[in-house]
This record gives sequence, C-alpha cells and structure tokens, in this order.
Amino acid sequence: CGIIGRVGTGDAIDTLLTGLENLEYRGYDSAGVAVQNGAGIKVQKRSGKVSELKNKIDSNVLEGQVGIGHTRWSTHGPPTDANAHPHTDSTTDVAVVHNGIIENYAELKERLAAAGHEFTSDTDTEVIPHLVQHYLDRGWDSERAFRTAIEELQGSYAVAVMMSGEHVIYAARRGSPLVIGMEDDEFFLASDVPAFLEYTDSVVYLEDGDVAIVRPDGVEFSDLEGNSVSREPETVDWDP
Ligand code: GLU
Repeated sequence: CGIIGRVGTGDAIDTLLTGLENLEYRGYDSAGVAVQNGAGIKVQKRSGKVSELKNKIDSNVLEGQVGIGHTRWSTHGPPTDANAHPHTDSTTDVAVVHNGIIENYAELKERLAAAGHEFTSDTDTEVIPHLVQHYLDRGWDSERAFRTAIEELQGSYAVAVMMSGEHVIYAARRGSPLVIGMEDDEFFLASDVPAFLEYTDSVVYLEDGDVAIVRPDGVEFSDLEGNSVSREPETVDWDP
C-alpha cells in the first residue's frame, strides 16, 4: 500500500507511475492514478500490477500537471477495479487516495447515502470524496471542505485529495506515514521516500495530525484546525 502525489510543471503521469513502481516493495493488489487538467479530473485504476495499469493507460487522456496515485492493500472490499483507488464523488470533482482504515465509514456512508450520495465501491475510503463533496455543495471553499471532512474521520489515514480545477493537493496523516518531497518548482508526497528519491532528497516527514497543502509555488503545513506549524525539510541520505 502506497501513495504518491505530484504538483509541478509538465505532465505528472510519468512521475506518478515511477513513484508507484518504487513503492511496489510495500505490497499491493491494485493500482491507480488521477490527474488534473483544464478538462477536469481523469482517473485510471485496476486490480493487478502497476505494469498492467501502465499498459492500459492512455497517456493522451492523462494530461495534467497535478496528480495522485495509489497502490492498494485491500482491507475493506476485495481487490477489484471498482475498489481500486483513486476514489471520487459521483461528479468526479473530488479524487482521493488513502492508506489506512476509516473506522466510522459505515455511519458516514449511511448518512451520505441518506443525503443522496451514490456509492460504487465496497471500500471505507469512498466516504472521503463524498464527504468533501457534501461540504463543497454547501458552497464552502475547498480547504474548509477538506478540513471538515478529515476532522470527521476516525481510524488511521494518510490521505491525498485533489479537487477539479485546482492545481493543489490537500494531504493529511494520522497513524499512517506520509512524507513531502521539496524541489524548486516541483513538490511530491508519498508514503515513503523511495517513491520520489530520484527527483529530490529534500524531505519533510509529516507528524500525526498534520495537514499539508501542496501548491505549485510551495507547501503550507498546518494542524487540522488550520493553525500553521513549522516543518523544516531535511536532506535524506538513503541507501536503496
Ligand atoms: N482501507 C482502504 C481500502 O481497503 C485502503 C487500503 C490501503 O491502505 O491500501 O481500500
């Protein structure tokens, strides 16, 4: 199970696929990516190996400078294409990758279903994009919708969220690892450093309760309530 994310210039897809291959050692049963361009969020995902995903992918469709990717180790629902991450809301305005377990997903799912949300997977993760969408539908801005949704989650998560039309990745962690990679004009997030080590060795290790908002010109670190926290990058010396 692993997460990769990338914000920069030029297309993200190759970096995402390389990142997923670099995370294969963690073990997984499914893989997927979502990228963002002017025409909305595009998702491709399937059960099986990253190489199978790579073969299936139509790079022309997957243009975009911002993207997230995932290798899944199933906890809720079998390893099917539908259960692979990224997960989205019905309109594909919100895409989410997640490692961990959302313990209160059944209650959240029930509440969201009662409000008209339609679910297409067996995963605990799928409540996250629907919850964010639920708050966006109230007219809230993306950051508020993200923070409010994350605050409602119980259990463990490393999570990365993209919203349509924004060159931003919203990330948070509790109980599952998440690291940020910093280059001058390119930023990464991942479950572990090897995912992006070939692009940068300047790394911030997020702490439990941290939120990172990754934009093309830098990364903002805060706690869940939105108070800013200081996280200095360190240079990793990693022997593969
Ligand atoms: N609980 C989630 C699922 O079953 C995430 C699993 C993972 O960490 O890869 O889809």
